[in-house]
Amino acid sequence: MSAHANYIGRFAPSPTGPLHLGSLAAALGSFLDAKVHQGQWLLRIEDIDEGRCDAASVEHIVHTLKRHGLQWQSEVWVQSQRHAVYQAALKQLQDKNLTYPCACTRKEIDEANSHRAPGENRIYPGTCRHGMPVAREARAIRFRCPAEPVQWHDHRLGQFSDDLNTSSGDFVLKRGDGFWAYHLVVVVDDLASQVTHIVRGEDLTDTTARQIALWQALQSGAHENHFTPPPAYWHLPVILAADGQKLSKQTGALAVPEHDPVPNLNTVWQHFGLGKIKATAASQWLELATPVWANYRSAQAAR
Ligand code: GLU
Repeated sequence: MSAHANYIGRFAPSPTGPLHLGSLAAALGSFLDAKVHQGQWLLRIEDIDEGRCDAASVEHIVHTLKRHGLQWQSEVWVQSQRHAVYQAALKQLQDKNLTYPCACTRKEIDEANSHRAPGENRIYPGTCRHGMPVAREARAIRFRCPAEPVQWHDHRLGQFSDDLNTSSGDFVLKRGDGFWAYHLVVVVDDLASQVTHIVRGEDLTDTTARQIALWQALQSGAHENHFTPPPAYWHLPVILAADGQKLSKQTGALAVPEHDPVPNLNTVWQHFGLGKIKATAASQWLELATPVWANYRSAQAAR
């Protein structure tokens, strides 16, 4: 077995804007974690929602990662080129009777959730689970959530038991407008690229149970020897804007300045509570940071 067969990590940005400090933190964390394990680190461009993504952002992300010494192995995975693979995965789930067509409109789902406080998760009420109402047409394809809670462990946040029936309900795999939903494409790609470790921002923590459920569903029926266990997860604290909002294009997050990488790396580092590293080049900075990250990893382990 090659050294990196034990650890394959990835950074999977959505190119809806230039790389900002929040995404640099996820990139750096996942990169160093792969380096600590002498693993492989992959780059995947999550441009599946073509209306929100643009080529200039892809270019900025790729260029900025390189400027910061964050070099990935093998080809860049590009989701917009993988429609046929997602279609095949959907077919697999359909053949296992784990999906169903749904006619519900957003308004109908909102009405079913009208008793919930604003900001609370909206749960799909299961209206079409056993068949669409007569004379209605399918708008989306949903996943049948497992009856049992999804159990999973986060390196920093500890143990979770998430009952999807009460936290999201059956969720969408393919939207009414033909777009793939985020959960399906993430899981199909993580599985196809044999990702073993996911290190990403904690804003994605509550997507994990849905992704694990899909991971297991895609492999249900596989012989024990062919079953790939879900990846290990580590959700990092996210860098927030001064007003406490998540950094994003929508909150006006600034692009990481490209000309001087070491101060950017130190800014992210300090956000993790780690001391400044003196280095003249990004490559030297990353070498010095690697043993520090190994200690940080141990210190962050949930007890
Ligand atoms: N594309 C997602 C984002 O940029 C991240 C997906 C993931 O790391 O699982 O928020």
